[in-house]
Amino acid sequence: MNVLLLGSGGREHALAWKLAQSPLLTKLYAAPGNPGIAEHAELAELALSDHRAVIDFCLRHSIGFVVIGPEAPLVEGLGDNLRTMGIPVFGPNKAAAQLEGSKGFTKDLCARENIPTAGYVRVESRDGGLAALGDFTLPVVVKADGLAAGKGVTVAMTREEAEEAIRGIFAVPGGSAVIEEFLEGEEASLFVLTDGTTLLPFGSAQDHKRLGESDIGPNTGGMGAYSPAPVLTPELERRAIDTIVRPTVEALARMGTPYSGVLYAGLMLTAEGPKLIEYNARFGDPECQVLMLRFEDDLLELMVATAKSELAGRADPAFSADTALTVVMAANGYPGTPEAGGAIRGIGAAEATGAKVFHAGTRKQGDTLVASGGRVLTVTAQGNSVRAAQAAAYRAVDAIDFATGFCRRDIGWREVAREGAAG
Ligand code: AMP
Repeated sequence: MNVLLLGSGGREHALAWKLAQSPLLTKLYAAPGNPGIAEHAELAELALSDHRAVIDFCLRHSIGFVVIGPEAPLVEGLGDNLRTMGIPVFGPNKAAAQLEGSKGFTKDLCARENIPTAGYVRVESRDGGLAALGDFTLPVVVKADGLAAGKGVTVAMTREEAEEAIRGIFAVPGGSAVIEEFLEGEEASLFVLTDGTTLLPFGSAQDHKRLGESDIGPNTGGMGAYSPAPVLTPELERRAIDTIVRPTVEALARMGTPYSGVLYAGLMLTAEGPKLIEYNARFGDPECQVLMLRFEDDLLELMVATAKSELAGRADPAFSADTALTVVMAANGYPGTPEAGGAIRGIGAAEATGAKVFHAGTRKQGDTLVASGGRVLTVTAQGNSVRAAQAAAYRAVDAIDFATGFCRRDIGWREVAREGAAG
C-alpha cells in the first residue's frame, strides 16, 4: 500500500520511522516533510491547506492511506474531503475534530455528559467576559475558543491579568472565550485509539511545556516528554477512560459524528480524581516520539484498522515496559524568534549511543544539516527507569554539535526525584 504522511515535525518523523517498518507498506510519501522524514519517505511539496492538491496527489500516486499528523488540516476538514474521494484516513473528520478545534464545544459536551472537568462559562463579548470574571476565584483560566497553537490560554493569578486576557481575545473580531476554574494537581496525557466504537489504550506521557528548567518561564510547544507517566497509575487510567474518554466517544457517535483516530486527553490529576483539561485530535509533539519508541506493533496495520472501524475484538497495542524520554533541542531565540541556519553535526554519533534523533525544524544546505525552525531536534532514548532513560537521552544530546541551539537539562525531573525518594 502507498501511504501519504502529512506534516513536518518531530512527531511526523517518529510516525514515518514506524510506518516504514510495516510489511504492509509499498511506498511512503510525505508532505511537506523534513530531512529526517526524507530518510523513510519521498517528499512532496504540498500545502496542507490546499485540499484539492492533496487529493490530486493521492490519485496520481495511487495513495491507499493518508496519515494526518497536525491538527489544523483535521479541524479544516481535510479528512472529510479525502474520505469523500474514497481515500481512507487516519484522523477524525471536521465535526469530531471540534474536540480540539473548539474549547466551547468540548466544555458543553462535558457538561451534558457529566464528564469531570473545570467549571466554566462561555462568553461571546468583552463586557460579558469582564462581568463573568466576578464569579470566579483566583487563579482563573481564560481561553480563546478555536485553535491557537497552545498560545490561547492564560492562567491568571490576578484580576488585572484575567481582564487583559479577555480584552486581548475580544480585540479581534469574532472573538469567543471560555473562562474556567483553576484545577490543582499534576498534569498527564492519555492517548486512546478509537474507531468511534471500540477504544484501545495507546499509552501515557508527561511533557514539559515551559521553556526554563524547573518548569518556569514562557510556554512552548514542549521542551521534552517521557512515557509512560507513572503518576497515571493503571487505576487512574481506567478511571479516566471510564469517566472521560469513553463517554466522549459515545456522545460523538450518538451525535452522528463518530471519532476515528487517536484521541489525546490532557488530564489534571486532582484530589477528586482525573479531570479533563483539553482534548487534542492527534498525537502530541514531542509525546508521539516517546510513544513510538516504546510501541512494538505494526503502526500502519493498526492505523488502517482504526480507519476501517475494525478495532473490535483486538488486543491492546503492545508497548515496551521501558521508559522513553525525549529532549527537545531548540534554536537560540525560541519561542520568540529562533536563529535560523545554525549548523548541526553529530547525529550519527548520537544515534551510535542507542538513541533515536527525530528531526523537527531542520533543512539541508548543501551537505550540511542546518536549523530552520524553533524546535529543531528531539533526542529520544529508552531505559528501565526515568533516570536511566534521562541519562541515555543526555548522552546522545552531548554527542550533538549544535552551537546555536539549547535544551533543558532536567527533562523528567519530577519522576527522577520520585524514583530517588523511593530508593
Ligand atoms: P490547554 O491548551 O487547554 O491544554 O491549556 C494549556 C495549559 O494551561 C495546560 O496544559 C495547563 O497547564 C493549563 N491549564 C489549562 N486549563 C487549566 C485549568 N482549568 N486549571 C489549571 N491549569 C489549566
